[in-house]
Amino acid sequence: MKIILLGAPGSGKGTLAKKISKDFDIPQISTGDLFRAIVKEDSALGRQVKGIMESGGLVPDEVTIEIVKKRFLDDDCKNGFILDGFPRTVAQAEALEKITNIDSVILVDLAFDTIIERLSARRTCPGCGEIFSALDYKSTQCDKCGATLIQRDDDKPETIKNRLEVYERNTAPLINFYSERLFKVSSDKTPEDTYRPVKTYLESLEA
Ligand code: AMP
Repeated sequence: MKIILLGAPGSGKGTLAKKISKDFDIPQISTGDLFRAIVKEDSALGRQVKGIMESGGLVPDEVTIEIVKKRFLDDDCKNGFILDGFPRTVAQAEALEKITNIDSVILVDLAFDTIIERLSARRTCPGCGEIFSALDYKSTQCDKCGATLIQRDDDKPETIKNRLEVYERNTAPLINFYSERLFKVSSDKTPEDTYRPVKTYLESLEA
């Protein structure tokens, strides 16, 4: 099954992707994670991407599409994948149409003021990628792998605002692009509440 998760940064795509990935045994492809790995390399591309990410802007479409195309070739993608954070522009969506057929597009919906609250409190594990909220998780260590949690640079207030503006301008038009095959879910309650209708929906697609 090939799934796109659409939604603003901080709407809960990553958390939902991890649940789908576990139950349906398909990998989560997060372009944000792919770019964070590239930034860690000391390369010209890494330095370019670092600057863009720190400002909350978007990496150029050509670069992004090439990286995703390459990831699709990996063995674990043969039964499908969950795209988390891609496509983010109409040009990326059009390129994706030419590469593969998507079975389902899930829109994760959350009000911007709740997103700002959640992103400001988000803590990420640099070891295993697990996501926590400082609102309800009081430890500074990851309870899965023990690494010290970090706040992503782009989860700081000045960058959050720009990321949401970029979403409105570049990514929200994809809701219209995919309107014929969109499954919308609200993420304003718990991660389990968000996942329940999605799981039922995906099981119905598999049947
Ligand atoms: P994320 O972890 O999905 O919030 O992504 C973090 C950052 O990576 C974004 O703010 C962008 O700078 C970059 N990025 C991730 N996915 C894309 C994409 N599909 N197109 C362009 N830039 C992206």
